[in-house]
Order: sequence, then C-alpha cells, then structure tokens
Amino acid sequence: MDCEHYREMLSGLIDNELNPEEANTVNQHLSRCTECRAEYDALVEHSDKLNSLSFREPQDIAMENFWRLPFSGFARNAGLILVIVGYLLLVAYGFTNFFLNPEEDLIGKIALAALIIGGLIVFGMALIERLTAYKTDPYKEIDR
Ligand SMILES: [Zn+2]
Repeated sequence: MDCEHYREMLSGLIDNELNPEEANTVNQHLSRCTECRAEYDALVEHSDKLNSLSFREPQDIAMENFWRLPFSGFARNAGLILVIVGYLLLVAYGFTNFFLNPEEDLIGKIALAALIIGGLIVFGMALIERLTAYKTDPYKEIDR
C-alpha cells in the first residue's frame, strides 16, 4: 500500500473513526514514513486548533465582558442602592406623615407600626440568611 492510501486514513485515525486493525496499520506506517508522519502532525495540530475554538454565542461573550467591566458592576450596584434608598425614603416619609397626623386613628397607627416592625424583622431575617449563605457558599468565587 502506498502513502496516498494512508494519507486518506490519517483524519480517520485522529477522529478515532478507524477500527483497531486499520489504526494499527496506519500507526505502523507512520512509525516508518517520515513524510506521512509530518502530514499526521500537521493534521493533529490543525484539529487541536479547531477543538480549542469556543462555541459560545458571540453575544454571550459580549454580555459577559460588559458585566465584567468595573463600571458595569458599579452602575448596577449604584442603581440598586438608589432604588432601595428612594423606596425607603418614600415609605418613611409617608409613614411619618401618617403617624404625625393627629387626625388619624390610634388603632390605625398601631396596626401600621405592627406592619412596619413585622416587615423589618422579616426583611432583616432574610438579609441575615442571605449573608450567611453567601459567606458559606463555596461557589461564590466561581464565575457562573
Ligand atoms: Zn507514507
């Protein structure tokens, strides 16, 4: 059998598509023939390059890079903090007016106070739970 025949089987050998007998004959030829060996090495290098290519969608990578920018993380956190602060200020403002209004009923004020305190307790518990879970989360360093 001549080199041309083996050359056709080289990509099959690299992709593990040959049966053991065929693979054996090609390998034996490769150990003797430097020209086919060079061809084989070139093919392996080429297929390595193909395999190392990422198949992720380009827009996924763009989004990841965008969120990885220090500014993006800062803007996201700042936006979140602004929303929370604004919400809390608005709630506090409304509640203060309600409590300071002498025309409102005492029962209503007590009920609202109970709601606020209960809400704060639930929120605080959830926050503590979140923080504890975050501290012990073994995957927090891994980029998901
Ligand atoms: Zn050869």
